[in-house]
Amino acid sequence: MMNRHVLITGASRGIGAAIALAFARQGDHVGINYRFDREGARKVCDEAQGIGVQASIYQADVGNAEQVEEMFSAFIEEFKTIDVLVNNAGGGLKIPEGGFEKMPLSYWNEMIALNLNGAAYCSSFAVKNMKENGIKGAIINISSVHSVITYVKRKTFPYCAAKAGLNMLTKTMGVDVIRLGIRVNAIAPGFISTSATTRYNKEELDAFLRKIPAGRLGNTQDITPLVLFLADPEKSGFIVGQTFVVDGGQSIDGTIDYMLLEEQNGKE
Ligand code: NAP
Repeated sequence: MMNRHVLITGASRGIGAAIALAFARQGDHVGINYRFDREGARKVCDEAQGIGVQASIYQADVGNAEQVEEMFSAFIEEFKTIDVLVNNAGGGLKIPEGGFEKMPLSYWNEMIALNLNGAAYCSSFAVKNMKENGIKGAIINISSVHSVITYVKRKTFPYCAAKAGLNMLTKTMGVDVIRLGIRVNAIAPGFISTSATTRYNKEELDAFLRKIPAGRLGNTQDITPLVLFLADPEKSGFIVGQTFVVDGGQSIDGTIDYMLLEEQNGKE
């Protein structure tokens, strides 16, 4: 039993839900944040309670500072302290048509709020509480492979910029709060099959696969062990401000079509 208090944002499904349940399975208590999907959050919460840990759901838009403050008040009222924060909430939302010149500025603002501001707001409250209670905690930011490579086809300008900003926030915050014994690190997943990726058609999925040297799409179990590792000071106590890309090799050379290469070279 680890018995730590862990808050995971965007945990009503997908990677966040898998992270919440992975912490619950090792005996940590979990706060499950969601924005709209109350039913999904409730299901994750019930499953965590079924495992035997304390679990609660918290509705808040992480891009809204007031709502984040209310969420933290409620979390702290219930759990008293926070040991681990996972800033997972994020995503591409509905990408508008057209090039950069057609991008609505409201879309830019929404995306930066969700994918960058949210992590800064949540981390601010978490670090204050950890400091007050002398907790040498951990913050783990869920970034994206698109923080290091572009994704021009789908015109995710603000998403890529926000996630790259999140990597730098991980470094700058990381080297600051380590004086309090708090470690900040990030994980940048490549293609991970979740509800967010069901929007892609077969042609798009094939195009993704062609770029991944590992020859398969990722799944949530490719991410959760690293989250647990980075949250555990006995295992990762000397790792500070790093972003770990977990993408089956996708970001190493984006110019190669690995399926074509395999056809040309044969399987050996
Ligand atoms: P997902 O299945 O769409 O889940 C997103 C989660 O975020 C949901 O629980 C959603 O809850 C929550 N959320 C969305 N907006 C929110 C807001 N404003 N405030 C609070 N919660 C909010 O997405 P996912 O694929 O698991 O992605 C999780 C994280 O991994 C994201 O940061 C994403 O950018 C990153 N990532 C994913 C992939 C991938 O291939 N799947 C690749 C790279 C990076 P509600 O529906 O209740 O709002």
